[in-house]
Amino acid sequence: MADSRHRVVIVGGGFGGLYAAQHFRSEPVEVTLIDKRNFHLFQPLLYQVATGGLSPANIAAPLRAVLPDSGTSPCSSKVTDSFAAGYSGNERIPIYLLIVQPVS
Ligand SMILES: Cc1cc2nc3c(=O)[nH]c(=O)nc-3n(C[C@H](O)[C@H](O)[C@H](O)COP(=O)(O)OP(=O)(O)OC[C@H]3O[C@@H](n4cnc5c(N)ncnc54)[C@H](O)[C@@H]3O)c2cc1C
Repeated sequence: MADSRHRVVIVGGGFGGLYAAQHFRSEPVEVTLIDKRNFHLFQPLLYQVATGGLSPANIAAPLRAVLPDSGTSPCSSKVTDSFAAGYSGNERIPIYLLIVQPVS
């Protein structure tokens, strides 16, 4: 059965995107979070990885694990323009709200 809730699409699974997803957690909307990577990178500890104090796995967490039971569906895809976020394959997806936060 088709989901009749409004669809919110968030581009970017960094701090900004995750906070936005958290905001919608209790709202009656369908949230899709798109990131070119399938993991969240905790950038403040990049220096520790560069200097060998931590392994890369210590600062990367799968988006599915970061967003458990949040109602947000992570989707791994590189968005090339804001209109592309409205497509899945060749199918146009109606979007109620688009949040773009792809800094890195
Ligand atoms: C080494 C380092 C140390 C830092 N230390 C601190 C600190 O101590 N305290 C502090 O407050 N801040 C710190 N920062 C800054 C902080 O990490 C950033 O301000 C924060 O990560 C920005 O969050 P964001 O969500 O805007 O972007 P990001 O965290 O960069 O997230 C952007 C996301 O968008 C995705 N993306 C990018 N382009 C596309 C695309 N075309 N399609 C799909 N997805 C895309 C990326 O994969 C990424 O997951 C540090 C940054 C660095 C690099």
